Amino acid sequence: MNSLLKTHTSTLLGQAGILMCFALLSSISNAAIGDAAEAAEHKAKSLEIYRTIVEIPTVAGRGNGQKIVDYLSQEFVVAGFSPDDIKTIAVDDAVGLTVRYAGKEGSNLMPILLLGHMDVVEALDSDWERSPFTLNEDESYFYGRGTIDNKYGVSMLASTFVRLKKQGFVPNRDLYIVFSGDEETTMFTTEKLAYETAYLRDAEYALNSDAGGGSLNTNHEPVGYNVQAAEKTYATFEMTIHNPGGHSSIPRPDNAIYELADALKAISQYRFPINSSSVTREYFRQNSLKVEGETGSAMASFAADPTDEQAVALLSRKAHYNGMLRTTCVATMLSGGHAENALPQSATATVNCRIFPGETIEGVKQQLVEVSGLTDKDIKLLVPYPESPTSDPRDDVMAAVRVAVDTISPELPMVPYMSPGATDGMHFRTAGIPVWGVSSGFMRAEDNFAHGLNERFPKKSFDDSLDFWTVLLKELTAPQ
Ligand SMILES: [Zn+2]
Repeated sequence: MNSLLKTHTSTLLGQAGILMCFALLSSISNAAIGDAAEAAEHKAKSLEIYRTIVEIPTVAGRGNGQKIVDYLSQEFVVAGFSPDDIKTIAVDDAVGLTVRYAGKEGSNLMPILLLGHMDVVEALDSDWERSPFTLNEDESYFYGRGTIDNKYGVSMLASTFVRLKKQGFVPNRDLYIVFSGDEETTMFTTEKLAYETAYLRDAEYALNSDAGGGSLNTNHEPVGYNVQAAEKTYATFEMTIHNPGGHSSIPRPDNAIYELADALKAISQYRFPINSSSVTREYFRQNSLKVEGETGSAMASFAADPTDEQAVALLSRKAHYNGMLRTTCVATMLSGGHAENALPQSATATVNCRIFPGETIEGVKQQLVEVSGLTDKDIKLLVPYPESPTSDPRDDVMAAVRVAVDTISPELPMVPYMSPGATDGMHFRTAGIPVWGVSSGFMRAEDNFAHGLNERFPKKSFDDSLDFWTVLLKELTAPQ
């Protein structure tokens, strides 16, 4: 089904696209969004949901998965959703939630999924300046665990469903909110939702509130909008060398630590083959317009011709861009030996790989075997994560995103990107459903404390993005 949906990005961001989007922008009337009173009501509801869910500590193991689901379900029912359209799936203490927004009766268009996750990374009161599970605020920021990741996205999607329902809006197909309950840990609820939930399987595509979004510069001005279209596959290998060992007073040439060191040295010098996709080429093309000097021209050359050796050599030397050019593997942990006066009986290294979409975990393992001189048996894959493909951006979906972005700041460059992973999107892509990360939030790089201490979200971005999902969903499901 999905192979039919793939299109090229080459024309996506061109002049014609920008002109078309202006025409669409002017077609969004105030009535489509709502009048001042309706907008104020939507703002208050969004904030109320945000505050309530930030204050529920949905950390793995704390048993609050059902609490947030009960609260959100209640909001949907009050707004007019049928309880039959609200479903939960539980795995241990993690609970996932789906909400169907019924589309036009008799529509044979495939549903659109809207992704978010309700769980958050642990945060300890004693470490934070303010209590992490109270929505604190000052003039400029909201503070609290999840204020970015991903309770901002969850509240925006939830309040948009509430708003559209109150407006009496009927989309031309079913929309589904799909909130997972353990994205930050095991992703078991995500797996159930992506692979085992029949009514989600024939979705046309999914939009993820947990990736992508706008960039602000240091002066809080919007400078670009990023669409996450791929995630690298995650694979960790353990390499172990065994040896009979012996007394350290009688060293022999065969030595587990030396052999492992040689293997690691070889891996450190190995460069995986260059790879590219429509997404990474467009990423480099767009960045070449912003980055000056030889790096900028290397980006332009690579975007035009990914076999350009000079461009590849230059970009490979920059750690950040090297990961966009190829699979990477790096040693991250090391152990070996059992006594200071004994020849080591074993030595083990952990090697973490980020695999370019389309390449296989097994293929990467075979390259490691070849390069390191170890055998297939010496190298063990730890957890088998899925190999998720790239979702080539679709012109019609990106045109709708453009209209929504324009409500915040018009004429921004829209840049697709591949992230080192991983979000819920990975599983849905693997399940054959294209996913684009299109958060409504605009952030400065220096404000991003997701997963860290004192997570915060700019209040202005919250206010500016209140219409984003309303406009986007209307563009996608109620074409003018
Ligand atoms: Zn997240």
